[in-house]
Amino acid sequence: MKILIPVKRVVDYNVKVRVKTDGTGIDLANVKMSMNPFDEIAVEEAIRLKETGLATEVLAVSCGVTACQETLRTAMALGADRAILVETDAELQPLAVAKLLKALVDKEQPKLVILGKQAIDDDANQTGQMLAALLGWPQATFASKVVLGSDKVTVTREVDGGLETVEIGLPAVVTTDLRLNEPRYATLPNIMKAKKKPLEIIKPADLGVDIAPRLTTLKFAEPPKRQAGIRVADIAELLAKLKNEAKVI
Ligand code: AMP
Repeated sequence: MKILIPVKRVVDYNVKVRVKTDGTGIDLANVKMSMNPFDEIAVEEAIRLKETGLATEVLAVSCGVTACQETLRTAMALGADRAILVETDAELQPLAVAKLLKALVDKEQPKLVILGKQAIDDDANQTGQMLAALLGWPQATFASKVVLGSDKVTVTREVDGGLETVEIGLPAVVTTDLRLNEPRYATLPNIMKAKKKPLEIIKPADLGVDIAPRLTTLKFAEPPKRQAGIRVADIAELLAKLKNEAKVI
């Protein structure tokens, strides 16, 4: 069984992003970029399924600029067998990515696509759901446990009230939540081996997909600075402030 893993190159989760002074975007100059953490979890899950003999091939895919090749090499150093970059400098919104992934799924015929539940740059949490809709496939989002069978997958989902377990038929789309697994680190020999694994580069036009953005971002702004706290003299003053001054923001 072939598993397709879309991996996004994002600003590293340790970086505190700054808005450009003219409000047109985030300042990415000299900023460390990494694989989206939820996608690392997706890669790990796919590799574990391969190690247990349930999957035969793990294909990593990224859509974006040339430098996404690094992200794909990381996926291959972790254990993905090969990779495809859909290369473009254009802004890609979740719908465009979902359409590109759909075209690749049509071509590659995986039985399972495992995405991150969200990318930590746009926090959209849309691509997996849109992909499932475009494919007409069942989906199980926010997975904290995945049990793969030959024609179905049983997924435990993190939902507001706790955990929910669903069984869906294959082919299917699954998105990962934080507790699904703990991703491994790439070893040096595997990083070296990954350099030789196949990485195909194609363009959105090769897939016949229109990637034009449907949304326009008007402005980026820093969140307002938090005001300093104050010290109250006693509980009576605290209660008075809570009653008369505290607001739900
Ligand atoms: P989002 O809907 O943007 O929050 O992203 C959810 C998931 O979709 C990510 O965790 C990735 O698995 C996948 N994804 C989003 N954008 C891309 C991209 N440009 N290239 C590859 N995968 C992506």
